[in-house]
Amino acid sequence: MVNIAAEVWAQAESDPARVAVRSPVTITYGGLRQAGRRVAGAVRSAGYAPLDRVLFIAPTIPEFPEIYYGLHAAGVTVVTMNTMSTHPEIGYVLADSGTSLVVAWHECADAARTAAAERGIEFWEIEPGHSFEAPPLTDVHEHAHDDTAVIMYTSGTTGKPKGAELTAANLIRAVQSFTPVFNLTGEDRVGTALPLFHSYGQSICMNTALAAGASISLLTRFEPGDVLRMMKRDRLTILLGVPTMWNAMLHVEGDFRAEDFTELRLAGSGGASLPVEVILAFEDRFGCRILEGYGLTESTGGATFNDLNREQKTGTVGRALPGMTVEVRDSDGHALPPGEPGEVYLKGPMIMKGYWNRPEATAQDLRDGWLKTGDIGALDHEGYLSILDRVKDLIIRGGYNVYPREVEEVLYEHADIVEVAVIGAPDEHYGEEIAAVIALAPGSTVTGEEIRSWAKQRLSAYKVPRLFSFVEQLPRGATGKILKRAIDRDELRSSA
Ligand code: ATP
Repeated sequence: MVNIAAEVWAQAESDPARVAVRSPVTITYGGLRQAGRRVAGAVRSAGYAPLDRVLFIAPTIPEFPEIYYGLHAAGVTVVTMNTMSTHPEIGYVLADSGTSLVVAWHECADAARTAAAERGIEFWEIEPGHSFEAPPLTDVHEHAHDDTAVIMYTSGTTGKPKGAELTAANLIRAVQSFTPVFNLTGEDRVGTALPLFHSYGQSICMNTALAAGASISLLTRFEPGDVLRMMKRDRLTILLGVPTMWNAMLHVEGDFRAEDFTELRLAGSGGASLPVEVILAFEDRFGCRILEGYGLTESTGGATFNDLNREQKTGTVGRALPGMTVEVRDSDGHALPPGEPGEVYLKGPMIMKGYWNRPEATAQDLRDGWLKTGDIGALDHEGYLSILDRVKDLIIRGGYNVYPREVEEVLYEHADIVEVAVIGAPDEHYGEEIAAVIALAPGSTVTGEEIRSWAKQRLSAYKVPRLFSFVEQLPRGATGKILKRAIDRDELRSSA
């Protein structure tokens, strides 16, 4: 049988009293299964059949795994979406996915309710303590390997969001790939503030931890001090996050030190590039090395990781996960030798089936089973991958390629810079000019001109930013990643 719910609920068979969700409330594996069986029963009693699409919108709350595995047990295809989505955005997804039921957490239900009502789609609003009246479903639907278990919408480079179809087997293979590289066991206490509607939080954090019988501690809203308190209180052994989170935790004032986190054995990062400066400072303050991995929604959230059982190379995203293959290719699609940068292609059991109802987009991004990622990377002789940037973020200034990430890495060494995004601004002379959007440390009075002369001593002239903009905070996407496309390029002004 292939069903992620069966994998997780199997833990209830052997030890129903084992803790599945540790905080903010405790849920045992037995309780998780019981709640899920009620959800599955309600879905079936209402007449929904396996592979019907059900949109589920909820933040990172203990009820998320209860409902999520209940939906999987009923066999429906679970469509997950950002809780901040507007009603037209939800309307688009409802129509595109052909959803027939919407299940929404009460705090983010308004937009979904409106969008569902406009289309006459059944709508269930879930509140704390919600009880499903129907008889529980005790069987778990047996999916075929290729059945679409989850659809997640990604915006991609152009056009409307596309629904990445993750199969029942994709979800299980992701769990099987991550368990050994995390050395994950039922004794682990895993924590996160990642959104569970996104592939990273859902597949790599929640599914992997719960299928191993570990516990998860959840934070609905990322607040760096709260993460540190959760780490200390729950004696977390694993924390998963994105670069903006690690960086913010470094800037928390107060009495947190390495001795508080002696049990933390793995801080896993992904989703965006992590400045080496942040890795070093985090280890220095909290006593744990951050290990990086890399993946996309289209690869069920993962593809490479700095495996705990091998040499870990800081600054790389590690090697291909078990079963996955990574290739770096030139623009004609030919594999490049180690050291040469090109586009990253991925193959293996975590690669999505395709984009829902989009044969052309699928043919564009999936070629002979290889996923064309849109990321620029390079492999070393031992198969460790470095991500240089996204193809679409590459800046071409006067004919020279500039990887924003390389410039950002240098700027992060500046003591007054808390956060930075380097982007290309249109320029008449050079085509594009290097611009830096910066969040400064509180009280800093450093100017763009000063940063520029500082950077000149560390970077070739053509890579040095000439345009600067100072902001309180950089725009962020669902996982907390810096959202470069949301930066207003007209705001940028020359400091020269
Ligand atoms: P959207 O849904 O808006 O398209 P997205 O492009 O960020 O968002 P995701 O699937 O969430 O889509 O993220 C995948 C991308 O995140 C990768 O293609 C890569 O650009 C980036 N990424 C993931 N991990 C890393 C990493 N460790 N280092 C650098 N970039 C990373």
